[in-house]
Amino acid sequence: DEGLQKTKENFLTKVSKAIAGKSTVDEEVLDDLEEALVSADVGIETTVQIIERIEKRVARDKYLDSKELNSILQQEIEETLVDAPSANSYDFHTDLPSKPYVILVVGVNGVGKTTTIGKLAYNFKKAGKSVLLGAADTFRAAAVDQLTIWSERADVPIIKQAMGSDPAAVAFDTVQSAVSRQADVVLIDTAGRLHNKIHLMDELSKIRRVIQKVIPEAPHEVLLVLDGSTGQNALEQAKHFTAATDVTAMAITKLDGTAKGGVVLAIANQFKIPVKFIGVGEKMEDLLVFDKHEFVDSLFS
Ligand code: GDP
Repeated sequence: DEGLQKTKENFLTKVSKAIAGKSTVDEEVLDDLEEALVSADVGIETTVQIIERIEKRVARDKYLDSKELNSILQQEIEETLVDAPSANSYDFHTDLPSKPYVILVVGVNGVGKTTTIGKLAYNFKKAGKSVLLGAADTFRAAAVDQLTIWSERADVPIIKQAMGSDPAAVAFDTVQSAVSRQADVVLIDTAGRLHNKIHLMDELSKIRRVIQKVIPEAPHEVLLVLDGSTGQNALEQAKHFTAATDVTAMAITKLDGTAKGGVVLAIANQFKIPVKFIGVGEKMEDLLVFDKHEFVDSLFS
């Protein structure tokens, strides 16, 4: 995909420099490869795991050349990306696992949370599903305004209350309304204030509790939105949010225009939470359902 162009160039240049023209895979090649992966934002932890696995295979098949190394690297990288449990895997077109399907969207302000919700709404709607938005980030007037604009663009209804009202009350109204409208998908925006971890935890668990008064199994998905262009910072945010709540999926935004897309590998591997969507631009169409084969393929071709 063109949205990943810079990541791809960065990744390829570094990796191919490390292995180009080498007839056997020795210590030096592996060192260079390790350095290449770290500098392509794959993260130390994930890089070390990949290198260790390659070392094992090299020890087994002594005379690997650079072409074989390339394909092993591709396989090992794919291994680091987790799949969604099949009960929880879907795309815009398939039937969702339950009706309504409630997606709670979390993440720090500025990462592209509102934009991602708008894009999701547009795509689900386009695929024939009825969507309802809930503006439960009641702390910033701009957040509600932005979400309202996206609801108009995507042509889906939105539930909101006055600024400063209880986010849990908005979430409750939204889910209740979704049940009575028989909506297919509910997308609930939340405030992304990280400065106080206890507060974040309390707020998210309160939202969960009230949603569960209406639908005991909900939220069906807690989608964490991370800004891929911030590289290793995105990993830090993932740490905070996974500690504060039960995150079930990730969306990684702004992969267009950044060379740091290798961070997708670091995030997926380190947290063992599937990446389900990637953002590759500011427009409604610029959201892709993440496919690990396609993603890794595109890094290598
Ligand atoms: P929020 O505060 O997390 O809700 O962030 P917004 O949704 O308002 O997005 C912040 C900025 O990032 C806006 O200017 C968006 O247009 C931009 N943005 C969001 N997603 C993407 C993306 O995938 N690619 C690019 N290039 N920009 C994005």
